[in-house]
Amino acid sequence: MRFPFALTVKIARHIIKHKLLGTPKFALVLQLEPLHTCNLTCTGCGRIREYSTSLKDMMSLEDCLESARECGAPMVSICGGEPLIYPRIEELVDGLLRQGRIVYICTNGVFMRRKLRAYLAAVYDRSQEPILARLLEGELITPAEAEEIRRGTKDRRPAIKPSQWLYWNVHVDGLEYTHDLIVEREGVFKEAVAAVKMAKLLGFQVATNTTVYKEADMDEIERMFEFFSSLGVDGHTISPGYDYDAAKADMVRRLGKRPDDFFLTREMTHLKFARIEEWGKRFTIFGTPVYQEFLAGKRDLTCTAWAIPTRNVKGWKAPCYLITDGHYGSYREMLERVDWTRYGVVNGVTRDSRCENCMVHCGYDPSGALGTNYQKGDTWKNIKYNFRRRPRPAHNGKAVLAFNGFSIGKGHLTEAEAPIRSPGPNGQGLPIGGARPGRAGTALDAVDKPGMCCGQGDVKERAELLAKIAAKKQTTG
Ligand code: SF4
Ligand code: SF4
Repeated sequence: MRFPFALTVKIARHIIKHKLLGTPKFALVLQLEPLHTCNLTCTGCGRIREYSTSLKDMMSLEDCLESARECGAPMVSICGGEPLIYPRIEELVDGLLRQGRIVYICTNGVFMRRKLRAYLAAVYDRSQEPILARLLEGELITPAEAEEIRRGTKDRRPAIKPSQWLYWNVHVDGLEYTHDLIVEREGVFKEAVAAVKMAKLLGFQVATNTTVYKEADMDEIERMFEFFSSLGVDGHTISPGYDYDAAKADMVRRLGKRPDDFFLTREMTHLKFARIEEWGKRFTIFGTPVYQEFLAGKRDLTCTAWAIPTRNVKGWKAPCYLITDGHYGSYREMLERVDWTRYGVVNGVTRDSRCENCMVHCGYDPSGALGTNYQKGDTWKNIKYNFRRRPRPAHNGKAVLAFNGFSIGKGHLTEAEAPIRSPGPNGQGLPIGGARPGRAGTALDAVDKPGMCCGQGDVKERAELLAKIAAKKQTTG
């Protein structure tokens, strides 16, 4: 079947239990952000900007585990920031698994191989030698790292181990050139691919996590799915990017641009996701077929943001992962105090202007599973989708030229640097997050240097960067 049976049953039981109890609102997935620190500073990342004043803060392990317990979601997506920077990530994953939850670690992949080596060191005995040989052959570890693994570990903390309840969820927004451009650092795609390969060799479940912005080339996204599918990846999450109303107003006022020039409107999302149902047949796309129909513009759904709540250093973020009208002390308090009827788009009427173009999975994917806006046949459709045989790995993915940037000496850096440094409409070079004096920003930094499904934020900086690069291309022919 498409998704592991035990996982499907666990989620279905949770929904059925609450339906029988008549619970009006309940959590399906907890988006847990133990910290907002990140080793990257992707253009347009909402998290590192919205929480820029609390980047050093982090939730205690106890708070993290208690949040999961309190909301009772069967699935927890650990995001951030970069969750692998969280000092107690191993204990957090272990604690959530012990609570019986399905855990997704949403990572940019840069530190993932380090964690995989730590796992190998924790379980090493001579029977692991064939695995080490394969990792060495694939250049996924160095001989020095193999020796380190053989020496074992003195760390008594639990390592992150393969489990049917655990997924690595690796952020990729395109093939190498595009992805490195979006994350503003060359080499990140290459590292993420190496981490995916290594995790698969070690028996982990791995998914990819993609946000689609206006500039996304959907043919490229399809090739990206083919590529990762051929690596044996277990599934893909894909969601349209979110455009803050404030950012939109700013673009109109400051640059005199039409919002359609920069932002993914609902109509554009329908166009971008026109092939989503076909992809659902070819690839293991996570998300209900009902949500896929919504993305393709074939039906309406009502936002159920309360089903995928976000908990972070400030509390329970309301109303949703994307917009913040307040933080609450508990999930229950948030459910009770937020006026949920103020949000979303219902029957074509926008209740809150910030929701106008939102079709993101954390607002609408649960709606498909929970049967809001139920249409005859939906249940059967969802069952059929889950129980259908899992699509085979796309063998044509091996022919995809995934490494089309930095790896072949065609990185975005040279191209991006000039526009970044060039004067913008306000007379300043484009402000790239994390830029140091005299430097063009994080693209110049080494990959492996500490600094979810995470970047669905204010895209105006990215739009500005891309517009500048396009203009630069035109002037240089
Ligand atoms: S429609 Fe989108 S932005 Fe609005 S509350 Fe729902 S998830 Fe949040
Ligand atoms: S989008 Fe994710 S990886 Fe990028 S800076 Fe934000 S939190 Fe970090």
